[in-house]
Amino acid sequence: GETTATSADVDTIDATEESPIHILWINAGLSCDGDSVALTAATQPTIEEIALGALPGLPKVAVHWPLIDYECGPVQGADNFVEWFFKADRGELEPFVLVIEGSIPNEAIKREGYWCGFGDDPETGQPITTSEWIDRLASKALAVVAIGTCATYGGIHAMQGNPTGAMGVPDYLGWDWKSKAGIPIVCIPGCPVHPDNASETLTYLLYQAAGSAPMIPLDEELRPTWLFGATVHEGCDRAGYYEQGQFATEYGSPQCLVKLGCWGPVVKCNVPKRGWINGVGGCPNVGGICIACTMPGFPDKFMPFMDEPPGARISSTASGAYGTVIRKLRDITARTVDKEPKWRHRGDKILTGYRP
Ligand code: SF4
Ligand code: SF4
Ligand code: SF4
Repeated sequence: GETTATSADVDTIDATEESPIHILWINAGLSCDGDSVALTAATQPTIEEIALGALPGLPKVAVHWPLIDYECGPVQGADNFVEWFFKADRGELEPFVLVIEGSIPNEAIKREGYWCGFGDDPETGQPITTSEWIDRLASKALAVVAIGTCATYGGIHAMQGNPTGAMGVPDYLGWDWKSKAGIPIVCIPGCPVHPDNASETLTYLLYQAAGSAPMIPLDEELRPTWLFGATVHEGCDRAGYYEQGQFATEYGSPQCLVKLGCWGPVVKCNVPKRGWINGVGGCPNVGGICIACTMPGFPDKFMPFMDEPPGARISSTASGAYGTVIRKLRDITARTVDKEPKWRHRGDKILTGYRP
């Protein structure tokens, strides 16, 4: 494809059938593949729509993704899944977006062996570590996307007391790292990632590569601002109960879950607004406390999960007192507005206030 500069630091790619934008997906960090699985449930857009070119103006893409790829095999050679990664390393795959799923263990602290790898080194027959792939490919990629909380901030594998020294991609490459096209690491957290947050962000980057979208807006933690700008609480359909001081004391209640351990008021996540799959679900909406799985401090700063968050005690006590008064006043208004106006009747007089 042809590369032309269009703005200060973004290149535009003219992707064609013969020269598509490749998406190289490494799920060989410390990962459960949950984010790959989640993406198969995306609806806005679907992964099929991205891969098959169903979206107007979207560049042609070729997806190399372990979850769905027919090609397999861990060594270098034709018709081999890992060959695409060797090609990219040799500079023969232009352009490509590197997607990383799973946290990056610290290979510098191990005593022997390796923590995790992907494909074999033909010279030695030994696995190539995930960190080595990142070292080889990041500088050649159009953009690097960290998908899921493990890849973005370390997640579950990076908990206190872990033996691998695991970290997220920005911890590994540096928070100020930029791709050769001037794009910072794009972080889409979530454990797993919300399917549509993932497919929408990939779509955005492809439109940006085609020159149809400006530089992707990211916040300080490198998240797309339009997806992670609001809290769970701001989008929760139980927020009215919170405001009226009505708190569930057991599961199965429709009321606010804060006393059961919901961290929603301080968690940046759009899941309750968006629903989990095709608009349906969304943790607190359907009765599950928010355990803050999208957050950089997850999981340590939110444990133990089933306890009421420490800050919630003060705010829920305040809203409990205020909410009781407000609810009483609302009851009066509610009784009034729950009745029809008095002039609707069958009598022979018009009482609507109409004057001919
Ligand atoms: Fe699995 Fe969660 Fe890590 Fe994704 S972020 S790889 S879903 S543990
Ligand atoms: Fe906020 Fe959680 Fe209560 Fe929803 S359930 S209103 S997110 S505290
Ligand atoms: Fe995770 Fe909370 Fe968002 Fe659910 S609502 S996905 S637990 S951050």
